[in-house]
Amino acid sequence: MKRIVVVGSGFGGLQAVTHLDGMFRRDRDVEILLLSDQNYLLFTPLLPQIASSYTDPRHIVQAVREIRGRKRFRFRREAVRAVDAANRRVMVDSGSIEYDALILASGSRTEFFNTPGARENCWDYKSLQQAVELRERIIDLCEHADHTEDSAARRSMLTFVVVGGGYTGIELVTEMRDFLFGYAARKYRGIDAAEIRLIVLEAAPDLLRGIGPKLAAHARKRLDVSGIEVRTSTRVTRVLQGSVEINGNESLAADTIIWTAGVRASELIESLPGLHDRIGRAVVNAHLQLEGHPEVFVIGDSAAAVNAQEAPRVAPVAIEQGRIAARNVAHLWHGEPLDTYEYASKGMLVSLGMNYAVVKIAGIQISGYFAWLFWNAVHLYKLVGLKKQVQVAGDWMLGFIFPRDAAIVRRPRGCKLCGTAKQELAPRAMDTGTF
Ligand SMILES: Cc1cc2nc3c(=O)[nH]c(=O)nc-3n(C[C@H](O)[C@H](O)[C@H](O)COP(=O)(O)OP(=O)(O)OC[C@H]3O[C@@H](n4cnc5c(N)ncnc54)[C@H](O)[C@@H]3O)c2cc1C
Repeated sequence: MKRIVVVGSGFGGLQAVTHLDGMFRRDRDVEILLLSDQNYLLFTPLLPQIASSYTDPRHIVQAVREIRGRKRFRFRREAVRAVDAANRRVMVDSGSIEYDALILASGSRTEFFNTPGARENCWDYKSLQQAVELRERIIDLCEHADHTEDSAARRSMLTFVVVGGGYTGIELVTEMRDFLFGYAARKYRGIDAAEIRLIVLEAAPDLLRGIGPKLAAHARKRLDVSGIEVRTSTRVTRVLQGSVEINGNESLAADTIIWTAGVRASELIESLPGLHDRIGRAVVNAHLQLEGHPEVFVIGDSAAAVNAQEAPRVAPVAIEQGRIAARNVAHLWHGEPLDTYEYASKGMLVSLGMNYAVVKIAGIQISGYFAWLFWNAVHLYKLVGLKKQVQVAGDWMLGFIFPRDAAIVRRPRGCKLCGTAKQELAPRAMDTGTF
């Protein structure tokens, strides 16, 4: 019996196991085991819509056991703590699991570039939990700003800084804009729209690297007319609780600073033997194999393939590499030549909130309402499973007809009420907002 272990239930890992499952369907001597610390696939392109209460968090995740259907691969919810490549085993909390071939697709984490205070004081935006926390945080601040009489404190509560002008930062800030101006400024009677500030800080001279100058200019114009302040060639040099230092000489007061400026390979990948690039990704050959360990493949956000080091860290790259790694396991065992990964851009689609997007695909560049319709159609189609497609389409339709849902369902980190001792939470002290 041979065992193939795949780590990570993201885009790359799930593509790899489903492909392996198809190739080894009749080979009962091969066991395929997926290990992941999450029991679902997170559809990250819709994550920004969680912060704006446009889409329900449960609608953008699909449980692994649902995706598996009648396929025969096994799934274990485990965090892999280390890879012992010399002895061909992965270490998990309950012991070790041996493998004959290993595909690592454990994604990435946020990189703060050693910016003082950033890790401690910024909000991260990579996981579903972080997205839900930020949603609750935004609503919580609106609740407090609604009745706070100190105008400086109110302004700070209503100032949101997004560090990073890549697609995550831009999609997130435009979603937040839709919520804050479209909902909060209307429903919270103590909040004046003029007091809401959304600021994007980007170290590079341009936004949305990779989309091209024409669409980047369209996006910039759209942000300007939406009232979002954009500062390019602006480096964050320090983050404190409640303020951010810019270019070492300017301070900006903001209660919420969200960091979307960089990613780094997961700790598991950084601990692998062999070469790593500047953001910790494992350097693999053109067949996605780890140097000195041909039975170990690294894919997706975790991998820097020698001939595609500049490939962006996006889902289509992880999916394509998942397919190639799966095929190469079979080729390796059958003594066949291995497939090579070549990066080819599948285009770039960036939503700029309700009714506007910029799209670059197959040499065509469009922006505006039709680009936004196209963005919606593509993402709905890419969602895994009819149930999720119906749920998300339902959320989008309801978002047109009804106001957003602004109920706080769990107390967010930094909530002003949470710091208060339980007995002090008398009804009088409880904030109910102004009606
Ligand atoms: C907010 C946001 C928006 C994005 N929008 C887009 C977009 O619009 N289009 C696009 O193409 N890309 C987008 N991306 C990027 C895209 O999500 C990634 O490039 C893609 O998910 C990478 O796939 P992956 O399989 O390498 O990793 P992931 O999809 O991140 O999956 C990693 C998996 O590994 C698991 N894992 C991690 N460590 C361990 C461990 N030690 N043990 C066990 N399991 C582990 C994780 O739980 C997860 O299941 C976005 C990302 C974010 C954060």
